[in-house]
Amino acid sequence: MPTLTERFEQVKMRIKAATIAAERPAGAVTLVAVSKARSASEIADLHRLGQHAFGESYLQEALVKLNTLAGLPLEWHFIGPLQANKTRHVAEHFAWAHSVDRLKLAKRLSEQRPTGLPPLNICLQVNISGEPTKSGIRPDEVPKLAAEIANLPGLRLRGLMAIPAVTDDIEQAWRPFRLLRELAASITARGIPLDTLSMGMSDDLEAAVMEGATLVRVGTALFGPRPPRDVLPGVTGNQ
Ligand SMILES: *Cc1c(COP(=O)(O)O)cnc(C)c1O
Repeated sequence: MPTLTERFEQVKMRIKAATIAAERPAGAVTLVAVSKARSASEIADLHRLGQHAFGESYLQEALVKLNTLAGLPLEWHFIGPLQANKTRHVAEHFAWAHSVDRLKLAKRLSEQRPTGLPPLNICLQVNISGEPTKSGIRPDEVPKLAAEIANLPGLRLRGLMAIPAVTDDIEQAWRPFRLLRELAASITARGIPLDTLSMGMSDDLEAAVMEGATLVRVGTALFGPRPPRDVLPGVTGNQ
């Protein structure tokens, strides 16, 4: 089994190689370490190796770890399904929310963002592959929602996020990422400047970086296969 250090180095190498292949500047891509189902001590270990940004999907689980790790200067990204009853904790404890797909959620996040904190960084989640069961808005709904939330005072609209459908055709992996990039460019051209494309995970980060990802969200390739969530301390069931 590779060590955490080896996995971390390998993921950074993959990002670097793809960045170079895409002729993009060094540092153009930020790694968000997806730490759902991982323990606070694993997060602290990765932070010790130099990782700064961490992504969590399940709020109750995340809050336990945020509390345990409150002494570390970590940047927390909420990447999981967002519902109205979760917005307050996200607004109070996270630097980013990647999964905004409704005006109502955005308004709540804006109102609930504490005034002492900088605006919450927001990505709109787009159902880029058109899957009926996936969360996220349709691509054609993005311009309207972007315009509606661009001026909410507690938020800073940064860009778009997508989780494309799993494809076994690696040759085609770039397609949804290119669509997301073009969609973001069209929003920028309408006068709402977007600087973030949150796309690419353990299996497809190269294709995402080639198409312009600025944030890749990587879990398994960093930490290894995820344990079942119910074995983690402080984690009960799904929520
Ligand atoms: C779990 C998750 C990831 C990380 O997936 P891996 O395949 O483990 O890298 C990225 N983004 C979201 C939204 C996730 O839920």
